[in-house]
Amino acid sequence: MTDKIIGKITGKEYFVTIGLEIHAEMKTKTKMFCSCKNDPFNSAPNTHICPICTGQPGTLPYVNKQACKNVMKVGVALGADLADFSEFDRKNYFYPDIPKAYQISQYQYPLVSNGSLVGVDITRIHMEEDTATSIHKEGKSLVDYNRSSVPLMELVTEPVIHDAETAMKFAKELQLLLRTLGVSDANLEKGEMRIEANISLSEKGYFDGDFSKLGVKTEVKNLNSFKIVGQAIEFEIARHLAILEGETKGEIVQETRGWDENKQRTFSQRTKESADDYRYFPDPDIPKYKFSELPEFSKEELQKELPELPWIKRERYIKDYGIQVDDVEFYLNNLQFDRIFSEAVKILEKDGYKKLSNYISTDLAGLEKNDEMGNLENIKGVEIAEMVKMILGGELSSRGAKDLLLEMYKNGGGAKDIAEKKGLIQKSDEGQLKKIIEEIIEANPKQVEDYKKGEEKLLQYFVGQGMKATQGSANPGILAKLFKEMLN
Ligand code: ZN
Ligand code: MN
Repeated sequence: MTDKIIGKITGKEYFVTIGLEIHAEMKTKTKMFCSCKNDPFNSAPNTHICPICTGQPGTLPYVNKQACKNVMKVGVALGADLADFSEFDRKNYFYPDIPKAYQISQYQYPLVSNGSLVGVDITRIHMEEDTATSIHKEGKSLVDYNRSSVPLMELVTEPVIHDAETAMKFAKELQLLLRTLGVSDANLEKGEMRIEANISLSEKGYFDGDFSKLGVKTEVKNLNSFKIVGQAIEFEIARHLAILEGETKGEIVQETRGWDENKQRTFSQRTKESADDYRYFPDPDIPKYKFSELPEFSKEELQKELPELPWIKRERYIKDYGIQVDDVEFYLNNLQFDRIFSEAVKILEKDGYKKLSNYISTDLAGLEKNDEMGNLENIKGVEIAEMVKMILGGELSSRGAKDLLLEMYKNGGGAKDIAEKKGLIQKSDEGQLKKIIEEIIEANPKQVEDYKKGEEKLLQYFVGQGMKATQGSANPGILAKLFKEMLN
């Protein structure tokens, strides 16, 4: 993937510039400016509504403290600056999904400024309210206000991204952060996280603070998977290039474009409003904030509430446990499995880390994926660590471990208990095994003779007989060792 493109026709150099705007719904009990339940997906339409979030005249909004805290926590995690002074503004536009005819948002004084993620500089993160959901079907348009006024954060990056891959990486890492902090489920398919990309090509170089350097930008939105984010950006780069090179006629206009999944291309939706069109002004119904007067919003206090950040955990897992990068990403993205891994790994020694990780990220994840009846909650870190110890000590075969894991997943319980009850413990009592081996040697004179003549592969046959005689409970390694000794 190239970020600087040479035009095939003109030979000119083009610089690709991408900026992102990402909205994410905050996971709070109630909405942003009223006490309606914040639950836009699981209820019948228009059941979580009130005069405030349906914009009735004479009502007054009151600000959701937790939502603001969530946004500021994201700011702290990103190493950003938290506002001392902040206020809410009205962003005016007319559409049925915004019943007041304005969205309460923030303009000049966002809660969070600066910061960076995966090397991409962030301009700001502000707090606003979500709009209602419009549903168009059978020639009718319906509006569901359950989502109206759900707390929404909007993050804007600087125009400093130069390829689709970095844009996708940024969005993925942000999703991981929001989930790790527990501030948003950030599901793209549900629209809990919405990514918009601004794309332009310029002959004048990369952005250095001078906006006049940048070419005409188009914005693509309604991108509901990371893959589509990448595809839409790639498509726009190619489309701009073709126009600039004179390959396609027409001109690039500042506009909003959507993604047509069937045709695998972007299409024009509307010409873009500028900030002037929204007639922003401070909302006179909401008080202004001076955060230095509110100690619970200080960086120090918010920092205390943060869990280990994903990029810190990522490095620690690789450094301390030496497990595969894929496994690390699996734990970062699946916190329910990470709970089991992080509990168990503490109990084990170095020689058990990889085995442990394999059983969790492959076998256990497989059980869950195949909807095998059971529950991850049944699995205790200590018990799965015990299981790995038994495997390392030769008491449990890998076949037995699979049975043991399934039983733990279904019904819980201790690893040792289950192994004993199910007869999964491998017999390694040499005295007991020797007796069995003597019997096998006596019963197979022909094979013994051939083995002694040099047919060494018969050892496998003897081990097989031993496994049969012990109903699979012997350790095959020990059996082989004993047979070798006793046949000499
Ligand atoms: Zn309400
Ligand atoms: Mn917005």
